[in-house]
Amino acid sequence: MARGRYAPSPTGRIHLGNASTALVSWLSVRARGGTYVMRIEDLDSPRVVPGALDALLGDLAWLGLDWDEGPYVQSDRRPVYDAAFETLRREGHVYPCFCSRRDIQAAASAPQVPGDEVVYPETCRAVDPAVAAARIARGDAHAFRFRVDGDPPGFDDRVAGRFDPPPGSIGDFVVRRADGVPAYQLAVVADDAAMEIDEVVRARDLLASTSRQLLIYDALGRVPPSFAHVPLLLGPDGVRLSKRHHGVTLAELREAGVSAEAIVGRLAHLLGLRKTEAPVEARALADGFDLDALGGVTDRIV
Ligand code: GLU
Repeated sequence: MARGRYAPSPTGRIHLGNASTALVSWLSVRARGGTYVMRIEDLDSPRVVPGALDALLGDLAWLGLDWDEGPYVQSDRRPVYDAAFETLRREGHVYPCFCSRRDIQAAASAPQVPGDEVVYPETCRAVDPAVAAARIARGDAHAFRFRVDGDPPGFDDRVAGRFDPPPGSIGDFVVRRADGVPAYQLAVVADDAAMEIDEVVRARDLLASTSRQLLIYDALGRVPPSFAHVPLLLGPDGVRLSKRHHGVTLAELREAGVSAEAIVGRLAHLLGLRKTEAPVEARALADGFDLDALGGVTDRIV
């Protein structure tokens, strides 16, 4: 049974970039006659905006994207992530890390490009387990990191093509934060596995994360879904639309009198699904939709 999902974070209103990803994930499930699951990823609580959850569900429904299951809300599902974490811990895939962000920056060998993720220098891998246990017992703050040995896996993306992470680009990564909250990488895998998602469609900015997630699937003994990372929409300056940058929200467009069909028509055109930008209902695009049609599409300026 085909099962896909959309997994928004309730950190603001939905903009055209989010809508484009949601549309593609929905079309792919509907074209396969499958089940569309809605999952709200709200574990990063400082970024959660009150009211954003209801607003984003309203925006998606207005656009014509309906779902069959959910919304599941990650903050209600901690036992699922705790169980996955315990499996990783039992099997020796994780170790406690006492480093602060500042320690990690300071230990990084090369000067960092601002915004680039620092590859963790593995400082705490070398901590003797008895010393680590004593530090935990005395209450030292600690995250848990996944041990990445060797070159992390590449994969064939349905839309982005072959992706092989550059050697050395993926260090030991956090699966449980120091406040005990599961990190995105763990929660997303535990959920996609528990919800039996067979195809993950999401935005291209998460392409590199997928190699980390494949390591977690393997460590949990689960078969990964297929992945399709859809092109991003960029602002006029070439920077990706985000909730903080150029992201014209669906709510603003709706208030300005733009119809849902007009937005779907524009997105379908930007995604290369249609030659024209003419208004169209989402449902009308589902028949014959094929993810592979997005293969040649690059990030687009809106
Ligand atoms: N919650 C993530 C986001 O809003 C998406 C995660 C995913 O689709 O795997 O960017």
